[in-house]
Amino acid sequence: MAVPLTPLIGHAALRARLDEQVRRGTLASSILFTGPPGIGKQRLALWLGQRLLCAEPSSPCGECAHCRYAINAQHPDLTWVFPRPNLGDSRAAPDDVAADLAEEAANRVAAGGIYSRPDGSAGIYMYVTRMLVARASLSPALARRKVFVIGEADRMISQAASDQAANAFLKLLEEPPADTTLILTSSEPGALLPTIRSRVIEMRVRPLSDGEVREFLALPGAAAIAGGAPLDELVARSRGAPGALADAKPLQEAEQRARAMLDAAVRDKDRIYRTAYAQGASGARGAFSDALDALTGLVHARARAAATAGDDTAAAAGARTIVFIEEAKRDAERNLAPQLVTFRLLEQIAQEYR
Ligand SMILES: [Zn+2]
Repeated sequence: MAVPLTPLIGHAALRARLDEQVRRGTLASSILFTGPPGIGKQRLALWLGQRLLCAEPSSPCGECAHCRYAINAQHPDLTWVFPRPNLGDSRAAPDDVAADLAEEAANRVAAGGIYSRPDGSAGIYMYVTRMLVARASLSPALARRKVFVIGEADRMISQAASDQAANAFLKLLEEPPADTTLILTSSEPGALLPTIRSRVIEMRVRPLSDGEVREFLALPGAAAIAGGAPLDELVARSRGAPGALADAKPLQEAEQRARAMLDAAVRDKDRIYRTAYAQGASGARGAFSDALDALTGLVHARARAAATAGDDTAAAAGARTIVFIEEAKRDAERNLAPQLVTFRLLEQIAQEYR
């Protein structure tokens, strides 16, 4: 039996605004929800999808066939995509792509809507984009409209500007068929391609209030994440983003790893070789990418502190270091061994702080 999506909690003002726009027929066809991770942007997008597909006057009624399919994340006219590990075949068949997404969607639903962010190696690969474009050209199967929710759209992998699928997607965003709505979400809109960002209407989603976080954590699916921790502590830690609680542990690990890298480069240069070696020759690529993301955060914080303290030299070194880390991320994506990438990066950082 299908497990229904976690009820949507909060976002009342934005929901009212969207509802009004749907009723007046003024809702944009290509929308981007932005805001911090874990506040429910994708859930809100799925709610809007249900709202658009439900045929009842008091939409979403929650009772009609459209609502029931949508609530179970199974409506054929509501396509939900998000970053997934590469299926390995750039021409992956649409059925396989859809099955992979459906399976993960079911996992997310079963986990009460609290799931870890896809790791650094996951993306929305071109075969997914191709599937979206193909589906958008078809008539709806059941409803009068079709809706596409593209979670974490900043992780769409466009191989080249000349790529046909990338161009077809931009064209789709620019001018969707009359019966089609595209809802993108991103917690890092700055990482979106400008060609995508310029084609969507951006709407800011706010973090939940403490009361709403409490309400969310009281839902049955949230019990696992609570893990016996006191509710007040969870509410405080979530900062309005209960979905992000799932990521606390991996994030802590990534940060520890980043801290060890930075210490080796800055303080204990004898340790660079050993630290690099510890990153492994391959595997766990996602965790390595996460560590590099955490390293950017650490260096950024240091550089900002230096700039505030008037230490321009250290601030400039920080800025250059961030460029090195970005290069390392690209190398990691190109499948260079983490050991090698780390060794080169830490040598560069050490130079900066020597
Ligand atoms: Zn309905």
